[in-house]
Amino acid sequence: MYFTAKAKVPERSELKEVGNVCTKIWNKANYYCREQWEKTGKIPDYYELQRVFKDDFWCRKVHSHTAQAVLHKLAEAYRSWFQLRKIDATANPPMFRKKNSISTITFTRYAVKIEKCQMQLTLKRGVYLHLDFQLQPKIELTHENIVRVEVKSGFAYIVYRVEDPPWKQDGQVMGVDLGVIHTATTVKEDGEARIYTGRGLLSIQRYFNKEIGRAQSIVKKQSHGKKEWSKRLSQLARKRARQIKHVLHAQTKAIVDDCVRSNVNVVVAGDLHNIRKLRSDTKKPEKLVRARSWGRVNNQKNHAWSFSQFTATLEYKLRREGILLVQVNEKATSKTCCRCGEIRKRNRKTRGLYVCSKCGLHINADVNGAVNILRKYLRPLGRSSANVSLAKVIKWKESRLSLEALSFRVG
Ligand SMILES: [Zn+2]
Repeated sequence: MYFTAKAKVPERSELKEVGNVCTKIWNKANYYCREQWEKTGKIPDYYELQRVFKDDFWCRKVHSHTAQAVLHKLAEAYRSWFQLRKIDATANPPMFRKKNSISTITFTRYAVKIEKCQMQLTLKRGVYLHLDFQLQPKIELTHENIVRVEVKSGFAYIVYRVEDPPWKQDGQVMGVDLGVIHTATTVKEDGEARIYTGRGLLSIQRYFNKEIGRAQSIVKKQSHGKKEWSKRLSQLARKRARQIKHVLHAQTKAIVDDCVRSNVNVVVAGDLHNIRKLRSDTKKPEKLVRARSWGRVNNQKNHAWSFSQFTATLEYKLRREGILLVQVNEKATSKTCCRCGEIRKRNRKTRGLYVCSKCGLHINADVNGAVNILRKYLRPLGRSSANVSLAKVIKWKESRLSLEALSFRVG
């Protein structure tokens, strides 16, 4: 498992110089790559670049590992472009960097010396950079577990590896239902249900769609239809990505904190494949599509991305606590009654409420789904889930990180 620590870097003219050299190496090697591509139709790999640029004038000006890191990154960028252009013919190859711009400087562990909370980075022969850093408590940084240090715009990002903790053997199980109106609904064996709302996420999307649309029409108007992109537009896109990321991190963290607090050792989630199908199981597709809308263009793509991103982030954070994430088939979990097992599509009265026509259960539809997901995992183990009584439902607001109790009717 990888962690990143951030440390402030003292202002030094040598840093700018090395960053500048990295830009020159990038551009020179990039030029070589394009030339090779045009001549032979092949892209050079990292080893070829290293061979060609080993004695290069600029490469010799910095620590050999720093130069190699630039070549490595470039080779990676070319490889992903090569993959991408198979499906997207308009994809651009890696760009040249602006002249005199300062690139990220990468230090491998061979350029790093550590003593307690002090780090010495070798910029070039005889020139060192010292910095203080702070890690999570109980973690000791040594030459062995350091992966790399990246220096950019005044900060050093120290990437280090830590052994995974052992899996927790005992504890209770939690079921998670993923959605859009409610990003996640969790139910534990002890009967507590929590609803994490996705309204904040949707309003972020709505706001940015509007702003991006406005900025796009301005660009088009001003350039008489020639330009489609502006500084303002990329700024908006970055801002949107940052805000979505924040909500996802805050919510996954809240779920993991809850797991740790209430001794959960396994989290069960529905598999992702069925989420896409949800779009078609409604009588009013238009309304639902709009409610689930994440953006007019590439709706589907964005959507799937955020669900898988949510699961991946959750899995990663759970792993750090020794908690296992498993996925079960989500089939029928939204239309089955979690009390009597009746399967009926029209039991799902509205998006929010599930009313069972057989036993009369009134329940929040997402809580019902989460209980069914939990059951799917517990049943084959012969573990009783009768104690899932849904004693209380807690609604979690994404904006203020506060918990709000909701009255809830069962049966
Ligand atoms: Zn029922």
